[in-house]
Amino acid sequence: MLVLIHKECGGPALDESPVGEVCAIPIDRFPFPCFSCLEEIDGESEVRLSEEIGF
Ligand SMILES: [Zn+2]
Repeated sequence: MLVLIHKECGGPALDESPVGEVCAIPIDRFPFPCFSCLEEIDGESEVRLSEEIGF
């Protein structure tokens, strides 16, 4: 499953994972507050996709 990671804080940018199936950053959702640090994320340059393998 792919998750959106906020580069600045290193935490998940979204609570749910809307990118899990389409494998793309949901550009139409910007800007939105980061789920981890609540800072506003303005664009895809501030996030990265990470594959979460589960543990
Ligand atoms: Zn953050």
